[in-house]
Order: sequence, then C-alpha cells, then structure tokens
Amino acid sequence: RPLASLVLCLPVATSRRVFTINDFEIGRPLGKGKFGNVYLARERDSKFIVALKVLFKSQMEKEGVEHQLRREIEIQAHLQHPNILRLYNYFHDKKRVYLILEYAPRGELYKELQKCRQFDEQKTATFMEELADALIYCHAKKVIHRDIKPENLLMGLKGELKIADFGWSVHAPSLRRRTMCGTLDYLPPEMIEGKTHDEKVDLWCIGVLCYELLVGHPPFESSTHTETYRRITKVDLQFPPFMSEGSRDLITKLLRHNPAERLPLRAVLEHPWVKAHSRRGLPPVFTPASAN
Ligand code: ATP
Ligand code: MG
Repeated sequence: RPLASLVLCLPVATSRRVFTINDFEIGRPLGKGKFGNVYLARERDSKFIVALKVLFKSQMEKEGVEHQLRREIEIQAHLQHPNILRLYNYFHDKKRVYLILEYAPRGELYKELQKCRQFDEQKTATFMEELADALIYCHAKKVIHRDIKPENLLMGLKGELKIADFGWSVHAPSLRRRTMCGTLDYLPPEMIEGKTHDEKVDLWCIGVLCYELLVGHPPFESSTHTETYRRITKVDLQFPPFMSEGSRDLITKLLRHNPAERLPLRAVLEHPWVKAHSRRGLPPVFTPASAN
C-alpha cells in the first residue's frame, strides 16, 4: 500500500489532520446537550467510531459560554486516562463547533442507576476506585472537575467508568462562582458559602456520588433549594439501615465540611471497603442476574 493511504488510515486518535463534517458518516443520535446534539459517527477513511458532539455557535454566543467551551476543549484534549472520556480533536464551520469524542457504548451511569434503582457494593466500590484513580491524574495536572455526578459519567464497553463533560472544570484554585442551575445536590459547602475552593471539591462530590449509587438518591436531597443548602452546610448526613459499616465510614470521611479534613484520593484507593469490594480490572462475575 502506498504510504499516503497508510497515513490516511491512522485512527482519529493519533491523526493531526484537519477534519471537516464530510469526513464522517453520521449515525444515530446518542443524546441531547444544552447547545446541540451528540451523534454516533464513523470517520470514512479509518472507519474509526466516535461520538460527534455538535454545538451551535449562535446559541453559545447568546449565553456567553464561548470561553467555557474553549476551556473544556483545552483541558479535555490534554487528559489521557482510561477512565476519562478522550477528546480526540475538534473542528468548526460557519455555524457549528464539532467535538470528536471517544464513544462510550454503555451510555450514562445515570440511566443505569435509574434502571437498577441502586447499585451493589461491588459495582459502587469499583466505580469509586476508577473515579479516584482518574481524579488523582486530573489533580496532578492541576485540573479540578467540579461537576462529578451520575449525569456526567459514561460507561465503556466493559462497564468501566468514563468521566465526561469538563464544561465546569478549571485549573485550581478558583474563586469563580458557578451560576446556580441544575441540581444542587452535589455542591460542596465551600461553593455554597462562596469561599475559594480547590481540588478538594471533587472529594466532596465523590462522597455524594458514593451515597447516591448505594442508596438511589443523593444524601442531602430535599424538596426546596433552601433546605438542600441548609442540609449541605450542616452536613446533615443520615444512612439507611441496610448500609454497611465500611461504606458509611468512607462516605463520612469524604463528606467533611472542612475541605482539609476530607479523605485524600490515595486513601480512597486504600480504603478497606473499596479494597474489599472493587473488581476493577477483574473479569465480570457471572451471576444469574447478568445472564439474561
Ligand atoms: P448538559 O450540559 O445538559 O449535560 P452537554 O451539552 O454537556 O449537556 P453532554 O452531556 O456532553 O452534553 O452530552 C449529552 C448526552 O449525550 C449525554 O448525556 C450522553 O447521554 C450522550 N453522550 C455524550 N457524549 C457521549 C459519548 N462520548 N458516548 C456516548 N454517549 C454520549
Ligand atoms: Mg452533560
């Protein structure tokens, strides 16, 4: 084969060439975002499967989020970790910006949680280990995600976790205040109280996540925003009777009002409950439930 065609066959992942929409065959929609849709797509030459996120420039300009998108691209393009959704490349035309993303075949953790209501300890501990590992990597690069929640976590072919949506991530530390929209359930006390925050906000968020995965709803859920705020700032944490001692211990150590007292990520990896239940990297166990 001539060298030219070999070059063209390089996967999107390693290619430096400039793409246009004509380089892709567009498949089914994978989801709806605030500024456009995400489609399954295949690069024509390499047949490489990706998720193509299409964002409308006009809508982003109207909301003044161009710099946020620029940051999302800049940050995510530099992260390469098995539990972080890859951003391979991007391009734009007159009306749209296109992000070429790694395709996560098993979709949103949020939908899986809705289907199962709650996860068992094995599944939750495995996600916690994957998350801690990915966040150690991010924090070493001075990136804090700030928006860890089931809607922003996707799953790979084997159910492995992929952190997505770096729209709210920043280089630490930050005084930027987040506009109050969407769920408040994952907001750490220091962000509610308008203090500076650092990478320890992510420790709070994975504590909230661990609780929600095991219980089926987040720990400070209330019927009003005011009440949610109150419960978060007081760390009003209550465990249902079925929860194990080990999971309570981990969550209690992550959900500390004082960011400096939260269990560090390395200690999450070493936590006895995580070590006892995580099956990260092991083949899935065959159970009658997963047989159908
Ligand atoms: P929002 O801010 O409302 O969360 P968004 O603009 O950030 O929206 P995304 O969350 O990135 O958009 O994508 C919207 C949905 O598309 C996701 O919730 C998910 O269901 C699906 N999706 C996005 N990226 C992928 C991917 N790489 N693989 C599979 N599905 C994806
Ligand atoms: Mg999203």
